Amino acid sequence: MTDPTLEFTADRAARLAAEGWGLDVRAEALAGEFDLNFLIQAENRDRYVLKVSPVDADRESLECQIAVLRHLRESPVASLVQRAVPTVTGSDLLEAKDDDGQPRWVRLVSYLEGIPLVELDRRPPRLLEEIGATIARLDLALRGFDNPGTRRPLLWDLTAMPRLRRFAGFIADSARRELIESRIERFDRVVAPRLGELEYGVIHNDANDRNLLVKIEDDGAPRLGGVIDFGDMLHTAIIAELAIATAYLMLDRDDPLAAATSVVRGYQTVRPLTAPERELLPELVIARLVSSVLMSAHGRHRDPGNTYLQISEAPVWRLLERMTMIEDSRIRDAVEKGCRSTTTLSRSADEILAIRRHHIGRNLSVSYSEPLKIVRGEGQYLYDHQGRRFLDLVNNVCHVGHCHPHVVAAGQRQMAELNTNTRYLHDHLAEYALRLTDAFPDPLSVCFFVCTGTEANDLALRLARTHTGTREIIVLEHAYHGHSPSLVEIGTYKCEGPGGEGLAEHAHKAPIPDAYRGTHRGPDAGARYADEVRKMVATLSAADRPPGAFMAESLIGCGGQVIPAEGFMAGAFNAVRSAGGVCIADEVQVGFGRAGSHFWAFEALGVIPDIVTLGKPIGNGHPMAAVVTTPEIAESFFTGMEYFNTFGGNPVSCAIGLAVLDVIESEDLQEHARVLGEQFLDGFRDMAPRHRLMGDVRVLGLFLGVELVRDHSTLEPADTEASRVIDAMRDRGFLLSTDGPLHNVLKIKPPMVLSSGDVAAVLENIDDVLTEIEAGP
Ligand code: PMP
Repeated sequence: MTDPTLEFTADRAARLAAEGWGLDVRAEALAGEFDLNFLIQAENRDRYVLKVSPVDADRESLECQIAVLRHLRESPVASLVQRAVPTVTGSDLLEAKDDDGQPRWVRLVSYLEGIPLVELDRRPPRLLEEIGATIARLDLALRGFDNPGTRRPLLWDLTAMPRLRRFAGFIADSARRELIESRIERFDRVVAPRLGELEYGVIHNDANDRNLLVKIEDDGAPRLGGVIDFGDMLHTAIIAELAIATAYLMLDRDDPLAAATSVVRGYQTVRPLTAPERELLPELVIARLVSSVLMSAHGRHRDPGNTYLQISEAPVWRLLERMTMIEDSRIRDAVEKGCRSTTTLSRSADEILAIRRHHIGRNLSVSYSEPLKIVRGEGQYLYDHQGRRFLDLVNNVCHVGHCHPHVVAAGQRQMAELNTNTRYLHDHLAEYALRLTDAFPDPLSVCFFVCTGTEANDLALRLARTHTGTREIIVLEHAYHGHSPSLVEIGTYKCEGPGGEGLAEHAHKAPIPDAYRGTHRGPDAGARYADEVRKMVATLSAADRPPGAFMAESLIGCGGQVIPAEGFMAGAFNAVRSAGGVCIADEVQVGFGRAGSHFWAFEALGVIPDIVTLGKPIGNGHPMAAVVTTPEIAESFFTGMEYFNTFGGNPVSCAIGLAVLDVIESEDLQEHARVLGEQFLDGFRDMAPRHRLMGDVRVLGLFLGVELVRDHSTLEPADTEASRVIDAMRDRGFLLSTDGPLHNVLKIKPPMVLSSGDVAAVLENIDDVLTEIEAGP
């Protein structure tokens, strides 16, 4: 440790703040273990901490600490971490020389109010739970943060605790030394062989009671005010974060096990532990105490006069010795109690199924014969209650990735500020309407904000009807557009399926423009399917019932992941428009860049609809949807009857919608979809000759359908084989599903943040699974 004698005085700190940050300030020395810290009071009363690094500081590590603060500004824990302030020249670090002419790195961060937790004796369970929940949030927010500074060997790496064994010799008391040696031996035996089962990521790695700040609320209750000091940050087992916090929060408590239960309970509500994490946590808590006394012994050996070390290690020894008296099973029970007591989170699959049977309408089936209990999502992955990870290949709702931190933070921020309805003026609604309509070709420029795809399509029907004066509509076979009566009666997927009452009189179905299996095949299939629509229009017009609308998904989902045969859409639009009808593109599933080549799938088909409906990906899982139409159609709808939607377009939804657009743009997800689509197409084409089951492969960006057939000339659908592929892939950690009227199409429409490595893994596993199934029996 560097001797913190003050070559740097408070006056000098004030001068540095002026030089580097243009601040006219007073400075005052603060305590600090490694850095020299100064409290800086600016004239406008803003407060900062000026940190002068020790002489041997590693620049990479300092830059990493600044980078993480930047990363976390965009996260749900932003208010609990300091803000790094760049110098007037825009750099992160200012170089200053100390009295010996050695370079010292100076940085400035915002000051967080609060006292270190170590100074607070009264710690109600609520505070401990809040701390647990916050560090879990911090761990989630640190996902996606990578920096070379986090991947260094560090003595404080809990997963490598036995490396400190060499310091045991510095423990003078033989009983204590033996205790430590037996604990290290236990770590080697019980923990080390299972480290591979844990999940790894970047963690703060030192949530001790000096690095947690608390504030006292007006009602006297202590609340967590901040987490400081990212100097020990490390890429390691994520559960080490909770183990470290738990160890320190148990120090000098009358009932350390109850304290542990509270912290774990808080953590579990935000980031449920996996089974290996639950099992190893008690061991890791003790391992941290062991690390601490070994590091103190080492420090004392190097610096025998350091009384600080002796004071700080005393409570650790007290706890360690006390824990050794407590049976390990009681420590495990305390952890289990913390995990269990978030009752609603820990019901078994059977219990949940029983509750669903009694209290949730039975029309809702669950995926898989052995249903999954998914407890967490991140990016393209879903995690079940046992910590198993699955690659999600079907959720096109979480478009920019499950729980994308930018989207989550936008929603949380706005939720904490205001949520009202659209009868008040709000910047977000205006901004979102501009951003959204900017993404559309002319003349699509007027929005209506709603909450679900069903609402959007229902409103689209009303717009078309008011504009044209008729309900007559042409739809595609096997279409699904929503669950309201107005949509069930025109969607044959529902109204001609079980429990259906048949197509409404005003609805007329045209065949799916499927050039592989349908009645028209080959290069001019699109034109011939469009002719069918033209004939329907003629027949309807002759009967004095010209269609007011044509409604279709731009890329056909329930109909079997079909990309409409070339030229169909333009031909159908022409036919319907020539009879005075309007064209509605349902982009609820396929909009927002999924098609890769274009932002909207209709653009890839070379058409411009009159009404477009949006849903699913628009809010990345937040319930929001929209209708975008032309000024002319919007004007027709302005009949005097108000259109008010309680939740549609509220400030929270708009904040989320804006954040989704930000991410699509900043992560270049449309282009990413195009590139991955090509990788999928090449891969499937490559394996097709090896698999007799593989029929048609349809790919447009990240919209894919792979049709399985038993016979390439009769196209006999391989439906049971398709189900077997789905089940086998699930066992291998991939979630996908089947679709189409014949249930023989493998459907892939993943979150857009899938990686190229994921695509390669999907291809390899489908290849294997098909080989197994084709081999029989
Ligand atoms: N249109 C299409 C094409 C859909 O796939 C869906 C939902 N599966 C809807 C509309 C209805 O959307 P929601 O479930 O949000 O009402």
